[in-house]
Amino acid sequence: MKSNKLLKSLRYFLLAVFLILITIEAYLHQLLGGSKSPSIHALCPYGALESLYSLIFGGTFIQKIFSGTLILLIITLLIALIFRKSFCGLICPFGALQEFFGIIGKKIFKTRLTVPSNIDKPLRYLKYIVLAITLYFAWKTAGLWMNPYDPWAAYGHISEGISSLTGEYLIAFIILIVTIIGSLLYDRFFCKYLCPMGAFYGIISRISPAKIVRNNDTCINCGLCSKNCPVNIKVSELKEIKSAECINCQTCILSCPEKNALEFKIKNKSVKPVFILSFVILLFFGGIGITKLTGIYQDTPPKISLETTTASGTKTSEIKINPEEIKGYMTLQEVSEAFKVDLNELYKKLNIPNSIPKDTKLKDIKNFIADFKVEKAREALK
Ligand code: SF4
Ligand code: SF4
Repeated sequence: MKSNKLLKSLRYFLLAVFLILITIEAYLHQLLGGSKSPSIHALCPYGALESLYSLIFGGTFIQKIFSGTLILLIITLLIALIFRKSFCGLICPFGALQEFFGIIGKKIFKTRLTVPSNIDKPLRYLKYIVLAITLYFAWKTAGLWMNPYDPWAAYGHISEGISSLTGEYLIAFIILIVTIIGSLLYDRFFCKYLCPMGAFYGIISRISPAKIVRNNDTCINCGLCSKNCPVNIKVSELKEIKSAECINCQTCILSCPEKNALEFKIKNKSVKPVFILSFVILLFFGGIGITKLTGIYQDTPPKISLETTTASGTKTSEIKINPEEIKGYMTLQEVSEAFKVDLNELYKKLNIPNSIPKDTKLKDIKNFIADFKVEKAREALK
């Protein structure tokens, strides 16, 4: 059907827009710094989940996470409650990256790999283990514990250059490369086996009243729905699809040649794919837009404003950057200027010898002092 093809293209278009937007944001973050452009962590709902313990019991977000990240989590939770894992199927830029490499892979290899179900099934539980482990350590350490292993974080730091990808993000970069190569041959490789956010939405989707229903009377058993499902659900053999694996991409419904053989239903009301796409996008951007307008959405650190009184009694205020904004690529000179702290004083605070050149990047100080960490610099300057 022509309209179905159009909707499939619209979905790819939206995924491409999300991926391009976030890629530009990540580049701007590296270029302009955290005060002007949000980090990839601040734009990922999983960061808010990692910050939840700290927020509930300490009243603060962990580093790089802000109210905007929490708002993204709340919006996507709402989406999962109503439209199941639609965030994964219609919005997630990392899912999009995998799908686009999947399209390239299909063109090159003309086929897709399938993993035997006795291997595939147990492997699907891996993402729940990843969810439990990463949340446990994030909550315990009150930090983005997953960062060095997070392929999405590595993707966000590509513009920082090879030194970052082979240094701080080496493991994450390897996982990113494996994911991309895997996606050339196999659909949604990371989503199926490793994504903790997908695992979380999957758990939430189990309590959603929505499901896909196959009508036995109109189905002609052509198998196109099963063939096109990116997460390999055997749609044509089921009566209802309520699996936590379903990313509600609508591909099965849009691939079906028979009218109403497959329907997305909330309770018993049928909802057409075009409305699902529209509602999800509206909920996502509407939620962000409203909270931005009301000023509660924040995805960059607040500036620290200091008031000083001059000898004549006049009050002046100066703006310093927040220690959270210190980046590994900043030089000692840049940190000294940003914090309005004397260079010698900075060396003392960081407990490093003056012999280290002032144009040394923080992340390169470890070449002089093996155990130096950027984290320590942030702590010292708080
Ligand atoms: S069952 Fe349908 S909606 Fe769910 S992931 Fe497969 S193709 Fe997408
Ligand atoms: S694509 Fe439609 S007609 Fe074909 S097997 Fe699936 S539900 Fe039945």
